[in-house]
Amino acid sequence: MIRTKNRACAGKIRHPTRPDAEEHKARLIEQGAVRLNVYRCRRRSCHGWHVGHLPRNRTTQ
Ligand SMILES: [Zn+2]
Repeated sequence: MIRTKNRACAGKIRHPTRPDAEEHKARLIEQGAVRLNVYRCRRRSCHGWHVGHLPRNRTTQ
């Protein structure tokens, strides 16, 4: 896991592969987190995978 300094990825953890991100997501869910989303970063300088936190108590996105 690498902490990025990129603006769009600030404070987020970059995972090199999707399985890596999925594993992190599963760990967060074990800790009680819900509605997590694994997505690929658009930024070229990053090009990794992130675990996004979707807002709670929302029926629409
Ligand atoms: Zn990123």
